[in-house]
Amino acid sequence: VSSLLSGCRTFKVLVIGDSAVGKTCLTHRLSAAQFPSCVEATIGVDFRERLLDVDGEMIKLQLWDTAGQERFRKSMVPHFYRNVHAVLFVYDITCRASFNSLTTWVEECRRNSLGQEVPRFLVGNKTDLRDVIRADGLVSQEQAKNFAKTHNMMFFETSAKCTSRPRCVREVPYQRDKVED
Ligand code: GDP
Ligand code: MG
Repeated sequence: VSSLLSGCRTFKVLVIGDSAVGKTCLTHRLSAAQFPSCVEATIGVDFRERLLDVDGEMIKLQLWDTAGQERFRKSMVPHFYRNVHAVLFVYDITCRASFNSLTTWVEECRRNSLGQEVPRFLVGNKTDLRDVIRADGLVSQEQAKNFAKTHNMMFFETSAKCTSRPRCVREVPYQRDKVED
């Protein structure tokens, strides 16, 4: 397993967005296929990994689960964006403020990615709450699609709490302590 992992390509995926939109839960879901029963507020950045078999090639996703606290962020932001392969901009579909903040996050990305064209994904989380929230309180898909188009992003809605596995990928047994960078 160890030689297999050291040889596989690693993709750094940065997860950003307002606090409480579900970034930590999403990265747990991706790396452990679980919704955590309890999460603590992220401080600075946490790392989670996921090994995937994509069309026969083993790849490693290195998920950077970030937090928004100003005092931590300032010094760390350049590290977040260094050699990044993809950025996920996460908002909560039940929290319009988190959607409105996206322009700030996009601006941070622009300032720090030094002219590189980084693949960007807009992720509306907490779709499991769609039915319990009045429709006019939700961020509409139409609005999100427009935003994604304007900012050249792929758009997805999801739920870290309740989701099905993408069909294109196969789960690979993963032994964390044997991973080399
Ligand atoms: P972060 O600050 O962006 O990392 O957000 P967290 O992952 O810590 O989640 C904030 C809160 O939202 C927690 O209480 C989670 O249980 C909850 N949460 C996260 N994702 C979902 C989701 O998809 N659906 C629902 N209903 N709650 C969620
Ligand atoms: Mg967090």
